[in-house]
Amino acid sequence: MARIAARMEAKRTLSFEFFPPKTTAAQLTLGRTVGALEALEPDFVSITYGAGGSDRHRTGDVVNWIRKETSLEPMAHLTCMGHTRTDVASLLVEYRRIGVENILALGGDPPADGHIPAGDYQYASDLLADVAASGSFCVGVAAHPEVHPRSLDRASDRRHLADKLSVADFAVTQFFFDVEHWIRLVDELADLGVHKPVLPGIMPIGNKQQILRMTQMSGTALPTWLSDRLDSVDDPEHVRQIGIEVATQLANDLLDAGAPGVHLYALNRPEAVTEICVNLNLGTA
Ligand code: FAD
Repeated sequence: MARIAARMEAKRTLSFEFFPPKTTAAQLTLGRTVGALEALEPDFVSITYGAGGSDRHRTGDVVNWIRKETSLEPMAHLTCMGHTRTDVASLLVEYRRIGVENILALGGDPPADGHIPAGDYQYASDLLADVAASGSFCVGVAAHPEVHPRSLDRASDRRHLADKLSVADFAVTQFFFDVEHWIRLVDELADLGVHKPVLPGIMPIGNKQQILRMTQMSGTALPTWLSDRLDSVDDPEHVRQIGIEVATQLANDLLDAGAPGVHLYALNRPEAVTEICVNLNLGTA
C-alpha cells in the first residue's frame, strides 16, 4: 500500500521530512540518516523542493534514490511558483516512470530578491488541479495553522485551504508549538464541511538561531513560555533536550486530540527524531 491516503485510513501515520542536500558531505549525512530512520519503519518520508524550483533535479534524485535503495515510501514536494505547465507535466511523467505515488502540491515562495519568475501558476490550487487531473497521484497540500503570512485574513485563508482539500487527499501543516492551533484549524475546516486528514508538522528545536530564523520565515509564533525556557539555558545540548521534550509533548497532545499521525521535520539528522519516537513509543524504536 503506497498511497499515503490509504495508510491514513488504516492507521495513524509516522512520517519524516528531509531536504535535498547540496554538497557531497551533506549527501553522505542524509544517506546515514535515512539508513538510521528506516529502522523506525515510517509510513512515508517527504522530500522538499528548492524555492522557485532552483534545485528541482535534487528533489527528484533523492526521491528516486529512496525508491530504489530503501524500503521507504517517498512523497515528493512540488512548488508551482515560476513553473510552466510543460515543466510540471514533464516532472509528473518522470515521477510516474520511477513509481512515485505521492505528491505534496505547494505554492512556493518568491526568491529572496523578490523577483517572481514568469510561470503558468499563481496558487497551489492551480498546481493541485493539474496533479489531480493527471490521475496518477495521491496528493497532499500545505496548511498553515497560524494563517499563511500572505493571507488577507483568517477566514480567506481557511476558505482557500478548504477549496484545496475539496480536491486533495490530505494536508500537512506548517510547524507550530501549541496544540490549540491544530485543534482550531480542524474545527474551522469542519465548519466549512471539510473532514480530510490534517497531518501536523512538528519541528524539533535544534538550536536557538535556527528556530528564530525558521519562525520568522514561516509566520509561526514562538510562544513566550517557549522562548523563556530557551532563554533560561545557554548550553546547546540543553537547548536540544528542551526541543525534544517540547516536540514529544506536542506530539502526545496532538495524538490525544485525534491527529491522524505525526510528521517530524528531521532536518536530515536522525538523533532528535529517533529520541522523540522512542519517547512516544512510535515506529519500531
Ligand atoms: P497557496 O495555497 O497558494 O497559498 C498561498 C497564499 O495564497 C495563502 O495566503 C492563501 O490563503 C492564498 N491563496 C490561495 N489561493 C488563493 C486564491 N485563489 N485567491 C487568493 N488568495 C489565495 N516551500 C518550498 O519552496 N519547498 C517545499 O518543499 C515546501 N514544503 C512545504 C511543506 C509544508 C508542509 C508547508 C506547510 C510549507 C512548505 N513550503 C515549501 C512553503 C510553502 O511553499 C509556502 O508556505 C508558500 O508561501 C505557500 O504555499 P501554499 O502551498 O500554502 O500556497
